[in-house]
Amino acid sequence: EPLIRQIGPALYELGQGFREDMRVPARIVADSELLQQMVHDRSVPQLVNVTTLPGIQGFAIGMPDMHEGYGFPVGGVAGTALPDGVISPGGIGFDINCGVRLLATGLRHEDVKEVLPEVAHDLARSIPTGFGRHGRLSLAPEQMDRVLTEGVPYLVDVLGLGAPEDVDYLEARGCLDGADTAKVSVRARERGHDQLGTLGGGNHFLEVQRVERVLDSEVAPALGLFEGQLTVLIHTGSRGLGHQVCTDAVRTMDRALAREGIQLVDRQLACAPLSSAEGQDYFAAMCAAANFAWANRQVLTHRVREVFRRWFGDRSAAWPRIVYDVAHNIAKLEPHGGQRLCVHRKGATRAFGPGHPELPAAYHQVGQPVFIPGSMGTASFVLVGKEAAEAISLSSACHGAGRRLSRAASKRQVVGSELRAALNRQGIAVECPSNAELAEEAPLAYKDVDRVVDVVEAAGIARKVARLVPLAVLKG
Ligand code: 5GP
Ligand code: MN
Ligand code: MN
Repeated sequence: EPLIRQIGPALYELGQGFREDMRVPARIVADSELLQQMVHDRSVPQLVNVTTLPGIQGFAIGMPDMHEGYGFPVGGVAGTALPDGVISPGGIGFDINCGVRLLATGLRHEDVKEVLPEVAHDLARSIPTGFGRHGRLSLAPEQMDRVLTEGVPYLVDVLGLGAPEDVDYLEARGCLDGADTAKVSVRARERGHDQLGTLGGGNHFLEVQRVERVLDSEVAPALGLFEGQLTVLIHTGSRGLGHQVCTDAVRTMDRALAREGIQLVDRQLACAPLSSAEGQDYFAAMCAAANFAWANRQVLTHRVREVFRRWFGDRSAAWPRIVYDVAHNIAKLEPHGGQRLCVHRKGATRAFGPGHPELPAAYHQVGQPVFIPGSMGTASFVLVGKEAAEAISLSSACHGAGRRLSRAASKRQVVGSELRAALNRQGIAVECPSNAELAEEAPLAYKDVDRVVDVVEAAGIARKVARLVPLAVLKG
């Protein structure tokens, strides 16, 4: 029998016969071409490693954008059962609640084309980018505590950074209630204290886009999307604060492994039973970092709105409304198949189908919006989750095109200044101070997003709603 076999449309399985230590099979959502690309890095063995985690249920799932990560592959999903199942910081990622938020205006690209490069420049001036940069908000310790425990509702209701209806369009309404600031280290707070409202470096971006094509004429209007529309996609996370929370937890859990009798195939899979002190502490800190990330995307939304008001006035058509905001590096407690699971999504997006109680009323009929960015020179997609995703992938979809080349390899193949010129010729304004960083993020460093999205749809996880193309991109 072959080690890997196709078990459904765009779905492959590596049975437990593949390696002796597997507790459950591994499944990969892909086509043969994407599967071929995955064997060039360590992502498949990493996914198999995930199947050895104590308490894992069903199967470990790899998404079509899967690539190598810290312990877990990026594009990996795993659910562990309470009370003995583990939580693993590597299964969430260093950038806790890295995620994407789509804003949509009522503006047509056609009507604002002329000023767009200047608008992009203004956005770049208003939004700090790069690794070490700090934001314009400096929070007192009590304010920071409230951001960490109350998330976006605190920013909107108390600090006035947004509109009341914003909260309806955020995963978890922009706040996980399990946060405990006492579990966030002094160092983590220190790293985050002036980073609220900053984009960060590398892969993070803010992109002004045009809805190039509506692919589902029933769902697009329900999400308020139309062809030719101007949109903004924000991709960032919890900055230094989340990174430190992850670093702290990996260290603490590593020390508790022996006591818990957990033997790991890879040290990067450090984990602890969710019911243990270490597991609970990490979960509480992770929730706080997740709230910080949602707050960060909220401040950036506020900045975008300020810039748009400067250029397009107070008209309602110019108002960047939140279509939705999804986390793609997070663990959530969710019921699946009658069990309460700790669902790890690392480089994976939650994709609830129509009728799910967590969806805002306006999206009940259509399902949860899922955003799949491609690259600064290709397309990005809006999809909606399908009910079938529950059984296939614990209600999850992929989170991007996924890296095909490492940063180093990309830099060897691409000259930053040439890429910048090529993007400009394509009509894409580039606001990125460093040519080297630009080269690392070149479109050719990523997989073919159209193919990845087709696979997601073929697997029955989510359906395509719209294809967006970049007009201006801000990068660290
Ligand atoms: P990650 O969260 O893994 O860093 O990135 C998510 C996805 O964003 C990547 O897999 C890639 O496909 C996509 N991406 C990276 N840079 C850009 C960009 O500048 N613009 C857009 N639209 N997508 C990007
Ligand atoms: Mn991300
Ligand atoms: Mn990130």
